Amino acid sequence: MPEHPEPAWSVETHLVHRGRPPAEPGNPVNYPIELSSTYHAGGEIEYARDGALGMRALESAVGPLEGGHAIAYASGMAAANAILDLLPPGAVVVAAEFTYTGVAIRLRELDARGAIQLRRVDIADTEAVLALLAGADALWIESPTNPMLEVADIRTLSDAAHAQGALVICDNTFATPLLQQPLSLGADVVLHSATKAIGGHSDCLLGLVVARDPGRAEELRLRRTILGAAPGALECYLVLRGLRTLALRLAKSQDSARIIAERLALHPGVTRVRYPGLAGDPGHALCGEQMAGPGFMIAIEVAGGGLAATRASESTRLWVHATSLGGVESLLERRRRWAAENPLVPEGLIRLSVGIEDAEDLWADLDQALQLSMR
Ligand SMILES: *Cc1c(COP(=O)(O)O)cnc(C)c1O
Repeated sequence: MPEHPEPAWSVETHLVHRGRPPAEPGNPVNYPIELSSTYHAGGEIEYARDGALGMRALESAVGPLEGGHAIAYASGMAAANAILDLLPPGAVVVAAEFTYTGVAIRLRELDARGAIQLRRVDIADTEAVLALLAGADALWIESPTNPMLEVADIRTLSDAAHAQGALVICDNTFATPLLQQPLSLGADVVLHSATKAIGGHSDCLLGLVVARDPGRAEELRLRRTILGAAPGALECYLVLRGLRTLALRLAKSQDSARIIAERLALHPGVTRVRYPGLAGDPGHALCGEQMAGPGFMIAIEVAGGGLAATRASESTRLWVHATSLGGVESLLERRRRWAAENPLVPEGLIRLSVGIEDAEDLWADLDQALQLSMR
């Protein structure tokens, strides 16, 4: 896959220009959506599950953003499972207490069948993590965490985990590669649900892993082939198309998130706002050190608890009441409506994903829903 050889380009320019066919007369500007499972023998690509054109285009655009080698998968969970498939039998895995629900379920399953030994810990409590790392084979970080918006000290934790010989994985979905590059902070492998902000339009599922070490990237690519976790051509196209506007979308949604979080902190219907961009947030200082910005995700605790949170989330007209995040449209949901959500998540917690609509329209709608929840 040809790379644009322009090292001086800024991230915004790379987002627009990477992962395109060579600039030669008659070539299309975008790689076509190539619908073929197999290829005439003897070429570079023989079978789509091993890595087709659309996957390669997307991977060539994403890898440099994180400073590593990217592999695309059918979903974020497919990507997570490919990483977990690298671990030796009985591996000791230290993992964030608050991880994406699917990852938490998978870790518990593997622990229950003896495939791993799971140690869960508050990933924002650096001392607690360090105390659990003895003998660890892997450290699973998520930062900021879903849905609690805690910030982990990626560099300190990675250094300590490496001293034990552990593999460090960081789920970077909430931050995106534009706000945080965990490989540069010491992690070995980065995970993205590109279903979320990278794709950005809530129209497809796709996962990405970025590994610093080329050998590990090759192992992860082989895991995709063997586990059958390859993404489709349309999905790769849609995510690469989403990537083109990631910087613009992120700037807008983050600006609005800052405004909304500040107002939520003063709202009588809200007892707590979790957003690393707020000066009083426990993750604020670390966010300033290791992130280029606090992002577009906010969690609030509603004054009236679970019932009031349900009422608020069912009373918006503009915010979409739905799971998922990172789309152009703003989404919200009470997380504990899911039976599988971690019971340590407060009943009245609503997770908000701020989109690219007008911030005042978003605020007016959220305010009226919260006012209703107080009645
Ligand atoms: C959604 C999500 C995942 C899983 O990704 P899918 O594309 O839904 O399989 C993993 N981690 C985080 C933080 C997520 O938000």
